[in-house]
Amino acid sequence: MLILDSSALFSMEGLPDEEFMCPPGVVDELARHKDGRLVLWGDLLRISDCTKESIIKVKDAARKSGDLGRLSDVDIAVLALAADTGGTILSDDYSIQNVSKIMGMPFRSVGTKGITKTEKWNYRCVGCGKWFKERPDECPICGSGMKACRKK
Ligand SMILES: [Zn+2]
Repeated sequence: MLILDSSALFSMEGLPDEEFMCPPGVVDELARHKDGRLVLWGDLLRISDCTKESIIKVKDAARKSGDLGRLSDVDIAVLALAADTGGTILSDDYSIQNVSKIMGMPFRSVGTKGITKTEKWNYRCVGCGKWFKERPDECPICGSGMKACRKK
């Protein structure tokens, strides 16, 4: 079973041979972009909701790795659906891959080469240079913006 995220659906020319499913939000994104493939694939896309328990687990893992600020609700649903089904995530999104790895869930990239080691993301204030694990809207110290950086 493959779990497709938006990046997977947007970059695929055809549907995979294997069984696959995606959370409703992914299909909504295709619909929002008026993507022609949605018409083509409409009935073939298996749409499934994830459990609330898995969403909580995913958010916990993403918070610890610093990926939470980089994941949309749809991204989180993709991860949670994989946790529910034991499926393999098909995604080019770096943070989705990172959290899959942390949670011990298999993933495959669509186009780019998948990451090989777990990365921790952090946020750095562009003003005073202080580091934060989670992304504040603005720096609590100086009020400047944040920049996402990969921890060395
Ligand atoms: Zn600052």
